[in-house]
Amino acid sequence: MKSIMVIGGGLVGAACALRLQAAGIAVTLIDPGDKRRGASYGNAGHIGSEQVTPWSAWSNVWRAPMSSFAVGGPLDFRWSDAPLWGAWAMRFLAACAPARYARGQAALTALLHDSMPAWVRLADFLEQPSLVKQHGHVTAWMSPAKADAAMAAMARTAWGATSYCEMTAADLARYESVLAKPPCAGVLVTGTGQVSEPQAVRDAMLAAFTERGGVVVADTAMRIEPNGRVALASGRTHDGDAVLVAAGPWSRGLMEGLGVVTPLIGERGYHLQSAETNWPFDLPTTVFEENFVVLSRFTNGLRSTSFLEFGSPDAPGDERKWALLRRRIADLGVKFSDHPDRWVGSRPTLPDYLPAIGRLERAPNVLYAFGHQHLGLTMAPITSEIVCAIATEKTPSVDVAPFRIERFA
Ligand SMILES: Cc1cc2nc3c(=O)[nH]c(=O)nc-3n(C[C@H](O)[C@H](O)[C@H](O)COP(=O)(O)OP(=O)(O)OC[C@H]3O[C@@H](n4cnc5c(N)ncnc54)[C@H](O)[C@@H]3O)c2cc1C
Repeated sequence: MKSIMVIGGGLVGAACALRLQAAGIAVTLIDPGDKRRGASYGNAGHIGSEQVTPWSAWSNVWRAPMSSFAVGGPLDFRWSDAPLWGAWAMRFLAACAPARYARGQAALTALLHDSMPAWVRLADFLEQPSLVKQHGHVTAWMSPAKADAAMAAMARTAWGATSYCEMTAADLARYESVLAKPPCAGVLVTGTGQVSEPQAVRDAMLAAFTERGGVVVADTAMRIEPNGRVALASGRTHDGDAVLVAAGPWSRGLMEGLGVVTPLIGERGYHLQSAETNWPFDLPTTVFEENFVVLSRFTNGLRSTSFLEFGSPDAPGDERKWALLRRRIADLGVKFSDHPDRWVGSRPTLPDYLPAIGRLERAPNVLYAFGHQHLGLTMAPITSEIVCAIATEKTPSVDVAPFRIERFA
């Protein structure tokens, strides 16, 4: 392959563009250019190598009523988008079958095993090692009863290439200066980490790509033909040896145009970010489980993220969610701006919570990398290495059979 068009400049598309270019392929990256549109902008920045368990599990189905937004939880469904998530939910339930769940866990374990080293390789390639912080992350609890129950559940959970230990009183005391009261218990997970700031990382990849002669076109792909020709919104067409679909949740329309069943949903999440903060840089990403809040210290402020809202990736934000997130931050006693940055965006999620990575069987000029659910930042570098292997007809480091999009046919 001599040339490829990458559709979508989120973290996945940008990482793939860079790797393909480094392999000697002429790459054109196409993206309309609104950096806040995709989840790559507003996510929690966590390199979540520990998340080897697919969310498509019966335990999550039983827990759903207690996690519902109606009772103060993070889980919600946009009723006006019911036709979208209704069909998706049927496939989700099918994916919860114990044998499929076990296969999914094995596939995620293999993919996540090298996710942190792949991040380090990417940061080294960019000659910016400070983009990645390998300082683990924390899950913390405010009530002893919740902590005991959660830690018992953790002991039964798979952790992939990561491990955890209970935090000491001295570790927990570090939260005294930034919370109304420190957590009563917590665990520090090692083998995980965070990026310095998600958009900064994407900017670094795109800058390196263009400096090395990569072409970025501000346009929208409207249709892909089986031979890899791409029709753009501007009316132009683009011919190359191949095309890579990496348009996050919007990949669905492009793939369905090729006749490929692609049950992607927007699993929407919200953030509030405060530029003013006293949260120290060396406190790792912290999950406050009872509050359904993740706090991440980035170079440009403190970000809090929450919610799993199923619906269209293009729907407007729900004011109630930003208000609830604001109250939760206040309950914790975190110093936060009165006018934080507000953002909503969509995790691109397939019903079995595995990404789609591969080469289309019926149209081999079409490659794809989307559906990275809660782990698109985590998996972007390892995905780019796999895509590069596929494009250059080498054997990927991970068996990609579980990630075929044809599994939904
Ligand atoms: C609140 C929240 C917190 C999260 N936290 C984490 C975390 O801590 N760690 C983690 O690993 N993951 C996290 N995620 C998930 C992660 O952000 C996503 O999985 C990831 O950003 C997906 O990246 P992507 O490049 O596939 O898609 P996107 O970020 O959606 O990018 C797709 C790009 O394609 C462009 N595009 C769309 N259609 C077209 C078209 N037709 N033509 C050209 N371009 C097009 C879009 O404009 C966009 O720029 C989080 C998500 C949310 C919502």
